[in-house]
Amino acid sequence: MSLLINNVGSLVTNDPALGDGPLGLVADAAVVIEGDSVAWVGRSADAPAADETVDAAGRALLPGFVDSHSHLVFAGDRTAEFNARMSGRAYSAGGIRTTVAATRAASDAELNANLTRFLAEMLRQGTTTVEVKSGYGLSTADEARSLRIAAGHTEETTYLGAHVVGPEFAEDPAGYVELVTGEMLEACAPFARWVDVFCERGAFDGDQARAVLTAGMAKGLAPRVHANQLSFGPGVQLAVELGAASADHCTHLTDQDVAALADGDTVATLLPGAEFSTRAPYPDARRLLDAGVRVALSTDCNPGSSFTSSMPFCVAVAVREMGMTPDEAVHAATAGGALALRRTDVGRVSPGARADLLLLDAPSHVHLAYRPGVPLTAAVWQGGVRKV
Ligand SMILES: [Zn+2]
Repeated sequence: MSLLINNVGSLVTNDPALGDGPLGLVADAAVVIEGDSVAWVGRSADAPAADETVDAAGRALLPGFVDSHSHLVFAGDRTAEFNARMSGRAYSAGGIRTTVAATRAASDAELNANLTRFLAEMLRQGTTTVEVKSGYGLSTADEARSLRIAAGHTEETTYLGAHVVGPEFAEDPAGYVELVTGEMLEACAPFARWVDVFCERGAFDGDQARAVLTAGMAKGLAPRVHANQLSFGPGVQLAVELGAASADHCTHLTDQDVAALADGDTVATLLPGAEFSTRAPYPDARRLLDAGVRVALSTDCNPGSSFTSSMPFCVAVAVREMGMTPDEAVHAATAGGALALRRTDVGRVSPGARADLLLLDAPSHVHLAYRPGVPLTAAVWQGGVRKV
């Protein structure tokens, strides 16, 4: 089965060889999908015939968003905490434990239903690839089942037993690191592609983070790091040193941190939903981009510090508050996310790519920032299948 999407007013390919600028923009474009892949990209006037045709009627088409950082296996609700914080109290990492208690108390079916609902919510907003972390179980059994449930929905699963120290180990953080790098890792590794750690005051210090990441790497998991979110710290440089795919947050960076990212192979993943939802200063995307750092945008969707599943929202905030141009923000939300997951099959619309496509109810991708908060999804294809 082949599908031709023609009369695309503006196509974002993210392939500079196919069009203008870093987004590889093509005007009056068409795309042919065969099976689950993109088979052809070019001008609408040159498009080959296909079994079926969709008339885009001048609207914009782009790669589905790649949301490379989310925490979606959980139960419970933290409305009250958010409400309190917006009424003047500061965020502390300890709030995670509220969700841990609710998650442990939930059935597998309940956790799976929550995850399914959030992924559907994301799809409706144009997100076609999602990374999902564990981290609200904090016991061997609860971390393993979180990852098993996540693995039923996405190949991008991340073991985050080292989210915070588990409640049973409040007086023995070293004992918890031993658990995370030992028995818990053993149980979780079969369901995970990545290993992550929250390297932060109140969570895990540089030495503990290194122990968690290197143990995961020895088990075949690839590293990524929650780094430099709430304060300056060793997370970013550790991520670069270990060749992590991504250092996530990057809100408090020294010049040395920025230089390490620019020289290394690690993507800086910015999560503006977290700063928005905690009323905190945003990361300086302009500084990173000007230094040559590769940047991704992601939702960090979680019940405590960033309960948005919306990549368009993150794009709009990144443009308004973080010094990104609309082109840079859209690139970061698609190709950047793919890079942060070391994926070459998503985040682009070029022959051979997975047919993950977002058709906007707008003539340009710029509308994602120009029309904040407006639902702009006209259609979504995931693996060549129309989902929205
Ligand atoms: Zn996170």
